[in-house]
Amino acid sequence: MSFSSQGFSPDIVRALTECGYEKLTPVQQQAIPHARRGHDILAHAQTGTGKTAAFSLPIIQQIFDKQKSRSRFNVRALILAPTRELVDQIAHNIESYTKYTDVSVAAVFGGAKMSSQERKLEAGVDILVATPGRLIEHIELGNVSFANLEFLVFDEADRMLDMGFINAIRTIMGGISQHPQTMLFSATSSTQMNSLAQDLLRKPKRVIV
Ligand code: AMP
Repeated sequence: MSFSSQGFSPDIVRALTECGYEKLTPVQQQAIPHARRGHDILAHAQTGTGKTAAFSLPIIQQIFDKQKSRSRFNVRALILAPTRELVDQIAHNIESYTKYTDVSVAAVFGGAKMSSQERKLEAGVDILVATPGRLIEHIELGNVSFANLEFLVFDEADRMLDMGFINAIRTIMGGISQHPQTMLFSATSSTQMNSLAQDLLRKPKRVIV
């Protein structure tokens, strides 16, 4: 299955070809059609399966289709991940996928300067990738607004729970009043994970690879 047959724009397909992506991986084959139709997703997928593209490409395409002028402090898509390394890697991948588009991406994580992250947030970004702890710092400082949030992703949700981010996730969710299209990716399942998924997802399509 090719990316152009999935309705991705030539500007995105060209970037994917440069990344060496020709065909969808199994998790992409399952998740992308549901995500393109606007469904919530609950996916069990390990690292290395191509999950980053599975959740980010449908978001990128939908933002590209409905381009809007960026408003200060606003983000249209929020991707939460447990570690700075993972946040950095996701943001880097999204930069590669969006290089021929105007879709913007920013990363916020602890251990890096607040000031440069603040400047990016102030300008408004389409896709924000963040660790929960640093994101809360920015929320408390009024650096970010979710009033226009359309997409929400939890990557490696099981690791976020293992690392004790449940309260941080609940605090972040408390600041989001509408229901964005939500995708939750996890390598393992547990009672705590199932209860989080029940709270966060509406009629999710299940993806298992
Ligand atoms: P991930 O599971 O998202 O960390 O991806 C694992 C690796 O697979 C990364 O190096 C991706 O760049 C690569 N990858 C993702 N999707 C594809 C694809 N459709 N074709 C070839 N490589 C891919």
